[in-house]
Amino acid sequence: MAKILLIDDSRLIAHAAKKTLTRVGHEIILAEDGVAGLEKAKSEQPDLILLDLIMPGMDGYQVCQKLIKEESSKETPVIMLTSKSEPADKVKALKIGALDYVTKPFDEAELVARVNIHLRLKELYETVQEKNRQLQDLANKDGLTDLFNHRYFHEQLSKDFLRARRYHESLTCVLLDIDHFKKFNDTHGHLTGDVVLKALGCIIKDSIRDSDFAARYGGEEFALVLYHTDGPGGFDVAERLRRRVDDNEVHDKGNVLHVSISAGVATFPHKLIHNSKELIECTDKALYQAKNNGRNRVEKFDG
Ligand SMILES: [Mg+2]
Repeated sequence: MAKILLIDDSRLIAHAAKKTLTRVGHEIILAEDGVAGLEKAKSEQPDLILLDLIMPGMDGYQVCQKLIKEESSKETPVIMLTSKSEPADKVKALKIGALDYVTKPFDEAELVARVNIHLRLKELYETVQEKNRQLQDLANKDGLTDLFNHRYFHEQLSKDFLRARRYHESLTCVLLDIDHFKKFNDTHGHLTGDVVLKALGCIIKDSIRDSDFAARYGGEEFALVLYHTDGPGGFDVAERLRRRVDDNEVHDKGNVLHVSISAGVATFPHKLIHNSKELIECTDKALYQAKNNGRNRVEKFDG
């Protein structure tokens, strides 16, 4: 069953169409002029709109143009109802954005067939869009942790950097690395390594603000991008995360594993940072420092 909005000033036509389409299981909402039709298109979110061409006040062409401009209805299929049989009117309706037309007085079977075919096409279109979204997600995400992947991280950070520079916003990058990750793999096998990575992915997702951005940078390295965050603020986020990981136990096959991380933090603006590549390099230097200074700690880049 679909919800169909029928905009027509003729009661006779409206009721005939309503009867026909209700019989095949659709829900019909009626509007008797363009203004009411546009309102109902917005409030009712119909699956399809049947639109009369000749109406007092706003005609079908004008209504159709407005529907297409409106975000909420721009993808809703519109079928024009026209009593005119001149090809020019039909062509004009199709050019404006109607997907089809039905000539009045309509044949019941034809009306039903045309409505159903456009509902079906809409459904297919939505399926394709959903699949595209899923593919995009797969292409941008790391399969193990469900965080964004290395490629997408670089793409996103370079955009974020340009934005931060243009609007004079602070932008903090954090790189973190699991301490002695190799020992998990060596002692318990690679599957345990995966459990550790997943657990850290969950903690990261749970710890950052919705507006921030986290990625698996590679192997056992992760990256965070913190927006509108200065150096001390970024350090606090990293330090809180480090403590949370340190306090947490990872359970795997009866083993209780202790995981710790080292993290480096760098913030733009900084005199040595002019682009996203330099921001990463400086963050990496701070991470190296954290490892060098004994691990399970956070260091910020001072230059
Ligand atoms: Mg009319």
